[in-house]
Amino acid sequence: MSNSQYCKQQLTTIYERLIKAAKSANRNPEEITLVGASKQQSCEKIQQFHCAGLQHFGENYLNEALDKQQQLQMNPVQWHFIGKIQSNKTKIIGQHFDWVHGIDRFKIAQRLDNQRDSVTPLKVLIQVDIDNEASKNGVSPELAPELAVQIAELENLELKGLMVLPQKKLSFDEQRRPFARTRQLLQSINQQYDLKMDTLSMGMSNDLEAAIVEGSTMIRVGTALFGARPQTKTL
Ligand SMILES: *Cc1c(COP(=O)(O)O)cnc(C)c1O
Repeated sequence: MSNSQYCKQQLTTIYERLIKAAKSANRNPEEITLVGASKQQSCEKIQQFHCAGLQHFGENYLNEALDKQQQLQMNPVQWHFIGKIQSNKTKIIGQHFDWVHGIDRFKIAQRLDNQRDSVTPLKVLIQVDIDNEASKNGVSPELAPELAVQIAELENLELKGLMVLPQKKLSFDEQRRPFARTRQLLQSINQQYDLKMDTLSMGMSNDLEAAIVEGSTMIRVGTALFGARPQTKTL
């Protein structure tokens, strides 16, 4: 099988899962964006998947991402930063990405706002520690509303919604619970503070069905799309 056939087939497989899950919940599959979580995957692979129709790519490691962006300049894709954000890297992140998923404190948002050129606002998502693990990244559900209100005021950022990375669960019902709580949190913040967040970034290779059933509008899929990641960081 040629590379382009392989990519098309991988994409079709994920879209079939996406559509089936959406239909089972009476949702329109077109409300759901597929982001390829392409960390540690090669530029060739990204390019091939882009040719096969994938528009959104998420990267975790900044240097690796910048290197790929440089090499893939001719490919008009939407770049998402889905990794941990260090505050001394906000300038580069703000200038090189279309979306940032992992905002968990106001200082980071403020820095991104100051350092973003004012032409197109940066789309941002608040990462919520929905399992209340404390040690994990993400703002607690209790503090998320206040952070959302603060970020919504920033001119060069567009607050789009919430992102979660729950603990791995095996059963479908267990997978659904944190996603349901995230959807309810977004709805209650919108209502209480008259915000218009419309994005729930939740669901990965192993739990995208549960996330979609609970309202995900953006799934981040790595291994199920691109195959296993190489053991060591390649860049
Ligand atoms: C790697 C990664 C994913 C994709 O994980 P898979 O299990 O390979 O689908 C999604 N989101 C984030 C934040 C990631 O780091």
